[in-house]
Amino acid sequence: MLRSEEQSELNSETVPVGSARTTESLRVVLDAALDAVIAMDESGIIREWNLQAEALFGWSREEALGRAVADTVVPPHARDAHLQGLRRFRETGDAPILGKRLTLDARDKSGREIPIELRVTALRMPEGLRFIAFISDLTLMRGLEREQRNTVAQIDAQRRLFATILSNAPAGIALISRKDFTIEFANPAFHALTPGRTLQGRPALDAWSEIAQQLAPLYQRAISGETIHLVDEQFRMLGPDGTLEDHWFTFTMVPVRRDGSAIDAILVLAVETTDQVRSRGQVAQLASFARQRAAELRGIIDHMADAVFVCDQNGRLTLVNAAGAALIGVEPARARDLTLTDLAAREVTDHGAERQVHELALSRALRGESVVVRDVIVRRAHDGAERWVRSSAAAIRDDSGAVLGAVEVARDVTDAERLERLKREFVRAAAHELNTPVTVVTGYAQVLARQLQGVPASSREMLEALHRGVERMETIVRALTYVTRIELGELALSRERLRFDELVDRVVARMTRRPVGITVRVARLDPATIDADRDGLEQTVRNLLSNAIRYSRPGGVVEVTVVVDADGREAVLSVRDWGAGIPSERQARIFERFYRAHVDTGFDFEGLGVGLYISHEIVSRLGGRMWFESVEGEGSTFHVSFPVATSGVA
Ligand code: ADP
Repeated sequence: MLRSEEQSELNSETVPVGSARTTESLRVVLDAALDAVIAMDESGIIREWNLQAEALFGWSREEALGRAVADTVVPPHARDAHLQGLRRFRETGDAPILGKRLTLDARDKSGREIPIELRVTALRMPEGLRFIAFISDLTLMRGLEREQRNTVAQIDAQRRLFATILSNAPAGIALISRKDFTIEFANPAFHALTPGRTLQGRPALDAWSEIAQQLAPLYQRAISGETIHLVDEQFRMLGPDGTLEDHWFTFTMVPVRRDGSAIDAILVLAVETTDQVRSRGQVAQLASFARQRAAELRGIIDHMADAVFVCDQNGRLTLVNAAGAALIGVEPARARDLTLTDLAAREVTDHGAERQVHELALSRALRGESVVVRDVIVRRAHDGAERWVRSSAAAIRDDSGAVLGAVEVARDVTDAERLERLKREFVRAAAHELNTPVTVVTGYAQVLARQLQGVPASSREMLEALHRGVERMETIVRALTYVTRIELGELALSRERLRFDELVDRVVARMTRRPVGITVRVARLDPATIDADRDGLEQTVRNLLSNAIRYSRPGGVVEVTVVVDADGREAVLSVRDWGAGIPSERQARIFERFYRAHVDTGFDFEGLGVGLYISHEIVSRLGGRMWFESVEGEGSTFHVSFPVATSGVA
């Protein structure tokens, strides 16, 4: 039996039924329904099955009628509940599903489950009670729901991506609404452009009030539809400490239509370019400064009396000043077309041979050599005249030390050189002329000195003074002869095998034959055979001894040694005194021609300042070495060393 309210439900759903015709017209109605309609009797057997049901479940009406609902449309997992419901109805008349909208799964002929919405009503028919199920297919709706969910998720992901981009973008991005130009949004980079200001929700002209006059017209233009792009626009803005500072920005303002119709906001993209603008300014300033310095330098170089040649690392001349052009005898305008090969063609060696490119001062400087001074002869292009040139050259390097080119500064020393040559010639001639009379006088003085018996004491002293004077003259003439020979390149030194120790001993004996007021002590003489020029070597030993004697204190001692080193390779002559010594600041120039370290001191004894120069020349040309140690007021030691001769012929 049905309970009262279900009864009423049943009643309300009840349609008056009667004839077969009525049933027939009912079927027509059912077939026209949008929903699938299935009628089932109390035992769960299908009694009606409309066209939609055929379409939805795949069973034809003929197939479906008479089948159990449970086996036809109920999926296996819901069958028990279905059968149980039917049973309960039969036993108790209870049908809780009546009149309710239920969503559940049904199953079609192929076994596929279909989401459906179900509404069941009961109908009393002449042939018995019928449960009528109105079923609509939810597949489409479910799909739509799923799609909607996906779309929402996609939009959400895109929104998150967009937010990430905005907050990490290196450029400032802001959205300014039409109303009051309110800043609706500003990303972190935009905030960083003007740190410490509240932007969000504030009118822009308020947030940046100090530049409002500059901004307002730009916003107006953008809101009227113009896209604005400005590069390195200058703004004077308040810094965090309250002072006005210049800032530069490059930015774009784009009108935005958010709802697709009217422009209702401005999208602003901005980056600060202050650093770039400033550094560009600095570069321009530096460039102009560099140009000015270059022009100054050019002016100086052009007016220099010395010739200046500059070449790049490929040996192409990049700068030749007026003096340089004059020196090589080309038009200043043409000088820059020259190469090192052209320069080499103009230089001649002392012997008149042509100079090779690699021998040029500039070439050597390009190889990293520092060419200090060099005498060369340059043949002028237009008249072939030869000029003497003294030049120095050095590499031009960049910060890392790489060679970029080379510079040579050359001075025309032709006139000075000519004078110098004349002087040398004169001194040579004079020394040569003096040589004969001095030799004659020395000879006679020696003869006279040996025949002093019976000569009155006063005359004897006169004769001895004469003898000393003549000896001194002989020394000077010999020194001058050596100097001019060295300078004119005429010093001819031979090599003969000789005993160094014996030669030294002989010179000492000869020089101390007459008392000199100083004790000369030969402290050690190692036997040493060397290859040298006897005359030159004697001259050297004589110079060292006479210096040591002259610069000693009266009654002092001079010590002479010849020592061969432990492995027998080198013989060293040392002449030591405990006299004046040489002031340290004057020691560097001691081997220079005419240099005298004691001028204007209490030790300014007579001398030409050439003894050490000559000695040093001789020793080094013979392959030996010469050096000294000296302490002012304590004395000096001069050393001369030669390699010990190995057996065999010199
Ligand atoms: P000079 O004829 O003037 O001695 P030198 O060429 O022999 O010329 O020496 C050059 C200078 O070196 C001297 O003028 C002197 O000042 C210094 N000198 C040379 N030898 C000694 C020495 N043994 N002690 C101190 N000074 C010396």
